[in-house]
Amino acid sequence: MKTIGLLGGMSWESSIEYERIINTEVRRRLGGTHSADLIIRSYDFAVIEALQERDEWDQAGDRLAADAVRLEQAGAELIVLCTNTMHRLAPAIEAAIGIPFLHIADATATAIDAAGLSRIALLGTRYTMEQDFYRGRLEAGGLDVRVPAGPDRDMVHGVIFDELVRGEVRGESRRRFVDLIERMVGEGAEGVIAGCTEIELLVRPEDVPGAYFPTTTLHALAAVDAALT
Ligand code: GLU
Repeated sequence: MKTIGLLGGMSWESSIEYERIINTEVRRRLGGTHSADLIIRSYDFAVIEALQERDEWDQAGDRLAADAVRLEQAGAELIVLCTNTMHRLAPAIEAAIGIPFLHIADATATAIDAAGLSRIALLGTRYTMEQDFYRGRLEAGGLDVRVPAGPDRDMVHGVIFDELVRGEVRGESRRRFVDLIERMVGEGAEGVIAGCTEIELLVRPEDVPGAYFPTTTLHALAAVDAALT
């Protein structure tokens, strides 16, 4: 079994889900007392959030890349970055390390392809919904990616930063997300990507009409696949 290096804490509310899903899946596959072989670097998310808000992505990239190298030096054999948004910095991380980097959008695209779907709604932070690093990668793979209109994007971004990364899961916000997803499905989306690692803490598969692609779960399971092959 390979050692997985996790860059987490963005936020820890979802990173602990990565740890739980990866360990549960390793036990399911290997049985007995097996669990995953993990090295975790967990950040103070307030520092990361401030870099995002100040548009200091290069500085954030330098930090993540340096810590990915430390994980590699400590024995990690693959790197998993536990957030969609910070995949904007995937190129900086990949350039710094000599071990595989498992891209969260690729794990997601693989699941969408396996389901035979192509018209997909994407919910995430404003950075993920509006910038090209994520959406563009999915579109390059042939997907028709749809993001909410302006006010709905503000609502989704607000719930992530004002509630979910602070550990607040509110029924009213779940209803707003489900209402948005129902509208996007009504407009032709065949499924929805929970493209922020905290969204699946709020919206469960049974809440969603159409197919649901929860990126934390998909990425964590892809990490187990990679670790066990
Ligand atoms: N965990 C989130 C994501 O998947 C948002 C926090 C962040 O900005 O990294 O995008």
